[in-house]
Amino acid sequence: MRISIYQNKSARSQKVSDNLKILLSEHAERFIFDDVNPEVVISIGGDGTLLSAFQQYLDQIDQLRFVGVHTGHLGFYADWQEFELAELVESLLAAQPQTIQYPLLESLVKYRNGTQKRILSMNEAALKQISGTLAADVLIDGELFERFRGDGLTAATPTGSTAYNKAIGGAVMNPSLASIQLSEIASINNRVFRTLGSPLVVGPEEVIRIVPFNVDNEIILSHDHLNETTDQIEWIEFRVAKEQVSFASYRHTPFWRRVRNSFIGDEVVD
Ligand code: NAP
Repeated sequence: MRISIYQNKSARSQKVSDNLKILLSEHAERFIFDDVNPEVVISIGGDGTLLSAFQQYLDQIDQLRFVGVHTGHLGFYADWQEFELAELVESLLAAQPQTIQYPLLESLVKYRNGTQKRILSMNEAALKQISGTLAADVLIDGELFERFRGDGLTAATPTGSTAYNKAIGGAVMNPSLASIQLSEIASINNRVFRTLGSPLVVGPEEVIRIVPFNVDNEIILSHDHLNETTDQIEWIEFRVAKEQVSFASYRHTPFWRRVRNSFIGDEVVD
């Protein structure tokens, strides 16, 4: 098995990475370290580290699977914790993992100079205006849905629904649903300006197009942990990507248990 270990820069993750390399090296007949053409990428850090690993191996995502080791609490993209390395290696040696696939967000950006850029995100894309109010038309499948005014808009994947999307009032979505959630950031709603005022979810065949119309204002376009600042966006389209991201799952943690562990905890108060 060709393995790449991808860790964040913290000393803690570096130590976990070193320990994992030692354990894997004891089975040199089974594991080869290969950062260029890996079959399995083991991410060590947090969910944010997995987002970076995803972007690093974006052009190979149809050929590889991720495994997440979290140097902290259990993550949404990480099944293993740092003290479980021996168990992880045993599983890599013994088990035929199940492949779990999650939907990705495709963003197609058309710039005013006529160029286009296609971006894949695992969590979300967000449009925010740097100063003043973002004003943009929102179209669904080519039909005007609303004229948005506010701080910004995000389009999140189901796995990204527990990240920024949740912080701005979006719903948590089961990742088995091939869908994209559009959420508002501080929309202006009064007798003059009107938006839906709640998140909406589109399915795999639908396309959301955002057309900013106060065009000289600078906008931050972020996707996962990356971003660009531009006043050149003519429109941006969001849809469920045809690609998916794959995880090698050696044990199953039900999605709603992860949500509960992360946000609610075990304590029940009478
Ligand atoms: P960061 O500012 O270092 O991390 C933001 C936090 O989001 C971290 O605690 C991270 O968990 C968590 N996170 C990332 N993906 C998640 C997911 N799918 N479900 C639940 N929590 C998740 O930024 P970063 O590490 O570069 O990650 C970028 C992501 O951070 C963005 O995609 C955005 O969704 C999220 N973010 C969230 C907020 C917010 O909640 N207000 C604000 C900015 C950005 P770990 O500690 O496990 O890495």
